[in-house]
This record gives sequence, C-alpha cells and structure tokens, in this order.
Amino acid sequence: MIVGIVGGGASGMAAALAAAENQKVQVILMERQTRVGRKLLSTGNGRCNLSNIHALERGYYGTEPEFCLPALRAFDPEATLKWFQSLGLFTVVEESGRVYPYSDQANSVVDMLRLALNKPNIQVKTGFDAQKIRKDGDGFSVSDGEETVRCNKLIVACGGLAGTKLGGSMAGYKLLSKLGHNSTRLRPALVQIKSDWTGLTALKGVRTNCHVKIFCDGRLFNQSRGELQFTQYGLSGPVIFEISRDVCYGPGKWSCELDFLPEISKDALKQELKQRQQRRMPVEELLTGILHNRLGRVLTKAAGVKGKQWTGELNDQELEAVCIGVKGFEIALSEPMGMDHAQVTAGGVLTEQFDPQTMESRLMPGLYACGEVLDIDGDCGGYNLQWAWSSGRCAGLHAGKGTV
Ligand SMILES: Cc1cc2nc3c(=O)[nH]c(=O)nc-3n(C[C@H](O)[C@H](O)[C@H](O)COP(=O)(O)OP(=O)(O)OC[C@H]3O[C@@H](n4cnc5c(N)ncnc54)[C@H](O)[C@@H]3O)c2cc1C
Repeated sequence: MIVGIVGGGASGMAAALAAAENQKVQVILMERQTRVGRKLLSTGNGRCNLSNIHALERGYYGTEPEFCLPALRAFDPEATLKWFQSLGLFTVVEESGRVYPYSDQANSVVDMLRLALNKPNIQVKTGFDAQKIRKDGDGFSVSDGEETVRCNKLIVACGGLAGTKLGGSMAGYKLLSKLGHNSTRLRPALVQIKSDWTGLTALKGVRTNCHVKIFCDGRLFNQSRGELQFTQYGLSGPVIFEISRDVCYGPGKWSCELDFLPEISKDALKQELKQRQQRRMPVEELLTGILHNRLGRVLTKAAGVKGKQWTGELNDQELEAVCIGVKGFEIALSEPMGMDHAQVTAGGVLTEQFDPQTMESRLMPGLYACGEVLDIDGDCGGYNLQWAWSSGRCAGLHAGKGTV
C-alpha cells in the first residue's frame, strides 16, 4: 500500500513516520521546497518551542476546538517527548511548560526528523510542488505538472497561510477545496499589533517585562503579563501573542495600557523616585537602572517634564505623571500585522468534514488532512507544533493501516 503525503513540514513528517511504522506501507512524502521542515527552523526564534506540557488542558481555538482532543489525547505532550527521545532528540521542559530541544537549536529538531525519515519504506521527494490531486479509482494521483505520484491513501499536510516567507500558502486550502472541502475565513493569529504612536521609533527592539491590558471602547477585553517587544510598527512579543487573538477585529476603538513595573506599586515607585531626587541626576536618567534606558527616557519625556534639567527640580505632580506613565502607559492600537508576520493561521478547512479520531475526510474516504491547514490554531508556547505532531501522527497511523 502506498501512502502519499503532500507537505514535508511538522505534521507531514510526523505523518510519514507514523504511516511507515507499518512495514507493508510505502510512504511518499512530497515537499515543494528543497528541504523538508524549512519553517521549523524559524520557530521559537530559532530555538523551536516544540511542545507545551499543558497542551491538553487548554489553548486551542477554531469553530470546533474540541476537534483536536482525540488526537492530542492519543499522542499527548508526554508521548510526544518520548517519541522525540526515541528519535534521538534531547529536550528540556521550561518552568512555563514550554518544551525546547536541549541544544536550544531548531535545526536539531529538523535534523533528527530528517534522519528518522531515512527509512527503506519512506521516499522523500523534495522540489515537488503538488498542483493537482485527482481521485484515481480507489486511490489518488498527485501531480506537480511534470510528474504524477499515485497512492492508495493521501494526507494533505500543506500547512496554513501564516509565515508566507517561510512557505505558508493557500495551497492546502485550494487542493482540498478541489476535492470538495470548504474553509472558514482565514486571518493572522499570534501576530504583532500595529499602533500609530510616534514613540515607537525610539523604542524599536526594546524588550521589557510588562502587564498588558487591552481595551475596546474603554472596556477591558483581555490582559496578560510577560515579555513585550516594541517594533517599528507596534507591539510584539509573547505577551502580545498570548492576548492578540481577535484584537482589532471588531468595530470600536482599540487601545492598551502598559504597566512596565507590575511587581511594584505606584506608591513604592514614587518613593524610589523621590529618593533619586536627592541625588544630582539629569531628568532623562530618572528611570535609569529601573527600566531599559531608552524606555525610561521615552516615558520621562512623555510625562511632560520638558525644560527641567535635574530630577530635584521635578514637583510632585510631575513625579506622579512619570509614575502613571510607568504603571499605565496608554497606546492606541490600529490593526494586526498581516499573514507574512503571523505565526499561525486562525481558521482553515472545516473540521466537521473530518473525523477527529482518524483525521480522515468524511466526504472522501482515503483522504486525510492534518496540521495547520485544518481550522485549529493554538496559543503561543508550543501549542501549534504539538497540534502538528499529534494530528500528523493520527493521520499517518490511520492512513497506514491495512494492506491494500
Ligand atoms: C516564525 C514562526 C515561528 C513559529 N514558532 C512556533 C513555535 O515556537 N512553537 C509552535 O508550536 N509553533 C510555532 N509556529 C507555528 C508552527 O510552525 C506551525 O503551526 C506548524 O509548523 C504547522 O505545521 P504544518 O505541518 O501544518 O505546516 P508547515 O510546518 O507549514 O508545513 C507545511 C509544508 O507543506 C509544504 N507545502 C505546501 N504546499 C505544498 C504543495 N502544494 N506541494 C508540496 N509541498 C507543499 C510547505 O513547503 C511546508 O514545508 C511558528 C510559526 C512561524 C511562522
């Protein structure tokens, strides 16, 4: 029996290895790029946050978020880590539950998967850009325009549209649509949020711990604490990714309030600043040693202390304004960045058209889908790759059953 897999990313490779566990199965993995797992190399800032030990408890979205549970239960984070260990990959679990390769290098993950694919019953065809899939008798034929691959079962693992520069595309949705499947609206998730605030230019690249509150028309929409990163266009970093879902989509005025010292009360901060006034410190250095230098200067300036040279010259009102800025700086938000900046696609091929126990199409027996192409997306922190491994393995094991 031949199992064809279109897409050599995270879910496609997991599917290939699972299907090939049946020695009677021949797997053909088709990848349009010159190497498999290219996107994986860029994940987790080059460290590859490959799972999260809390992935079964929460963290998934879609029209039917519960669709992901059977696959995640069957191949949960613990089983996934054991599987990686069996492939020779050492991993480390951080306090937050995020899992990384022990080497801290994403290429270790790709290398171990690539080596594992090196099996007599797996053929990896790189440079194969599947353009057409046809139902062919009991099986399928997949063509890239020059060559046609025939298989008995077919798994579509083309990923989503997010990360376009790393291979994200509409291909999977289009191929599945030609086979009768429908998709929801697609939108970027785990993505920066844009702001027109002029202070951003001076803060580009600054990372800081922050408690972020997002408001829509003055009403609290979401909040979280963690690392925030300023970019040229707006706000980024894990804390933004965590709470950016659905921000700036509905009508209304969107804004955020940033507390740059969540562990310290405003009164305690004011006390500290008052003490600093005893020293001969230039005003722009008021927050030096507390916050990132550039952030400190921007916040001091934004508090309107212009014209004052020494911290001792600040009056109580001005000190209060600086403290308010540090503990609740307000910025207007405009819109999320596009798909090329997003880590994952929200939306995808309708999960109701697939069986969550097997990932097989309910419309076309023998056809399977897994990973990001389906209408499932996860939180920041290893949830999306865990979904890719679990759904890929589920599709591979079930497609690889039997001896046609
Ligand atoms: C910058 C960035 C960082 C990320 N960091 C993390 C992280 O740290 N942790 C985490 O959990 N998630 C992370 N993600 C998300 C995660 O990488 C994806 O959700 C996951 O890779 C999806 O797996 P997949 O197999 O569905 O798709 P992909 O990994 O995208 O693989 C799809 C593959 O299919 C190939 N393909 C597409 N169309 C065709 C075709 N027609 N013919 C042949 N081949 C085709 C593509 O070239 C690609 O190799 C990140 C994403 C990005 C963009």
